[in-house]
Amino acid sequence: MKIVFLCLCWAIAAPLLLAQSSPAPLTSGPTSAGRLDPAAATRAWLDSVPAEKRARSDAYFEGGYWLILWNFLLGAAISIFLLESALSARLRDFAERATHSKLLQIAFYAVAYVVIVAVLSFPLGAYSGYFREHAYGLATQTFGPWFREQLIGLAVSIVGSAILMVALYAVFRRAPRTWWLWGTAVGVLSIAAAMLIAPVFVAPLFNTYKPLTDSRISEPILAMARANQIPVRQVFEVDESRQNNRVSANVSGLFGTTRISLNDNLLKQCTLPEIRAVMAHEMGHYVLNHSFKLILYFGLFVFAGFAVLRAFFDRAIQRWGSRWSVSGIADPAGFPLLALIFSTFFFLITPLANTAVRVTEREADAFGINTAREADGFAKVALKLGAYRKLDPSQVEEFIFFDHPSGRARIRMAMDWKAANLPAGDVASR
Ligand SMILES: [Zn+2]
Repeated sequence: MKIVFLCLCWAIAAPLLLAQSSPAPLTSGPTSAGRLDPAAATRAWLDSVPAEKRARSDAYFEGGYWLILWNFLLGAAISIFLLESALSARLRDFAERATHSKLLQIAFYAVAYVVIVAVLSFPLGAYSGYFREHAYGLATQTFGPWFREQLIGLAVSIVGSAILMVALYAVFRRAPRTWWLWGTAVGVLSIAAAMLIAPVFVAPLFNTYKPLTDSRISEPILAMARANQIPVRQVFEVDESRQNNRVSANVSGLFGTTRISLNDNLLKQCTLPEIRAVMAHEMGHYVLNHSFKLILYFGLFVFAGFAVLRAFFDRAIQRWGSRWSVSGIADPAGFPLLALIFSTFFFLITPLANTAVRVTEREADAFGINTAREADGFAKVALKLGAYRKLDPSQVEEFIFFDHPSGRARIRMAMDWKAANLPAGDVASR
């Protein structure tokens, strides 16, 4: 239920790769008659990763494909259980007896629903979010602090879901014919509100953000910001090493809450050219208005989701409504059916949603390479990313499962840029 858009673009488990020696021959790239061959250079970068590391990160990433399926099936099973057991209807009845306020009834239902779903999905969440991460050496947190953060996340979900459901059922009650259009508006506003609020109120619940003070790092980053008219005066550092050992940076927020942050793992484990490559990518998200583009893309998906909901909800209620004791769209007891239809729709459009994000990431990559002018630094970071993301997938695999370009695609873009050998501009010769 938590809708938070953070671009964790560059999450990397660096220790797995730091031991690996840098592919030194690529400093100038493999050449053919003195010119860089981008295809051969890309292959050489990829071949520099030892086979056993590739196998391990491939296994980790491919396991994630199955987790998409298991998460969907578990969510669907929970929805069907809540409807078939009439637990959903009993929750609604209890809320109606407890208060006459429609608003409070919905809020009560939302709290109970989120808690029940959290409890029932906890085993799979613990496997995928804790035990599996440790098995692959990607997490640094012990179970106690991890569990504490899950509880904080649950509290945020309860508040966010209650507000969202109160707004949704208000429009469902007042607009019996056009509820799905108003529902879309509530959905899009919720995405925008989450983006506005998350960096200021949610992210600090999990981590400490402070201005990056080392001017040897911050000044080259701020210079790129100045060169691109980005009105930031400081870059934030976040203490993410308390949760994991992935190198990451992100741009988050909307309007005045936009901030560019990098984590302490990135600072410790990457060289300045690599840090510049990553931060230039993040600036690309800002300059290219990716927050608004993603609101638009996901707004269209939410619109399509509500259209599908409209097509199937009433039919399902006509057939099974009396068995479930659900009267219609404005009845909160029908929320598990709404969740079931919505999650099925979003499960089926996984490739489209991933592509919408991947396309914006590719735009940020292009911006980043042109700004940082660090083709090799970019390639090195893309390789480090390969510790947890499959480096060289098939085209179909990349289309379906990748919300960022694959390592191969990113390195190829960097090598194409390098081979083009763009002039920096020579004022003195004019
Ligand atoms: Zn990104």
